[in-house]
Amino acid sequence: MSESLLAVEKLNTFYGKSHILHDVSLSVDKGELVALLGLNGAGKTTTMRSVLGLTRPRSGTVHFEGRDITGWPSYRVSRLGVGYVPEGRRMFNELTVTENLQIAETGRGGAWTIERVFQRLPKLQELRARKSGRLSGGEQEMLSIARALVANPTLMLVDEPSQGLAPLIVEEVYKILAEMKAQGTSILLVEQNALLALKVADRAYVMDEGRIVYSGVAADLERDRNMIRTLMGLQEVAS
Ligand code: ATP
Repeated sequence: MSESLLAVEKLNTFYGKSHILHDVSLSVDKGELVALLGLNGAGKTTTMRSVLGLTRPRSGTVHFEGRDITGWPSYRVSRLGVGYVPEGRRMFNELTVTENLQIAETGRGGAWTIERVFQRLPKLQELRARKSGRLSGGEQEMLSIARALVANPTLMLVDEPSQGLAPLIVEEVYKILAEMKAQGTSILLVEQNALLALKVADRAYVMDEGRIVYSGVAADLERDRNMIRTLMGLQEVAS
């Protein structure tokens, strides 16, 4: 059996009586950037929550680096080297930028220290004493990514990083994701904007109503105009 970094097999997850995920299987190999696409409510966030131990799947398995971590509490999953940039950039609003980074450090060691993050993102350094609740949306997204970086994860789960951000900031965010990948971090990326994600992804999965309905090489999916139109909410997409 080939050993993926992350291997999700036939996950079924419920919220109360609602059966949300139906036999969801996916994998991320070492060094890969994998996009998880789908319309609103398809189950992308629930898939991430099931991997992270935030929502316990009813059946199925999650393996990370060959170890069965199904149902592990999230603090143990994160200690293994799984980072998370949540949708909506949740953080500690009353803490300053520096304090948010300090509590995100895990002591696992690795290339990303707070100083290095500040060198890479000088804007954050300028804002280091500001409470994060007073940052703009773009600045909060940068801080959210910076928080995940200082934990030096092996695998990073990133949920809709472009949401509500101006195009220039989205570009900056995607540049950082590409850099992380170039430095060997594996990434599972949830994104509403399919075309954006497919430009950086190696492979992609598409979810619909809690099921994986497509999986393949990102460049192939990018050429599938019908699928892209559906994913982008039936907007016209230039061919
Ligand atoms: P979005 O882009 O809107 O975040 P998504 O693909 O990430 O969509 P999920 O957030 O995983 O989708 O939601 C999947 C389904 O689960 C939706 O039908 C949603 O209404 C439902 N759902 C999400 N969270 C809960 C919850 N806490 N309790 C009950 N149902 C929920």
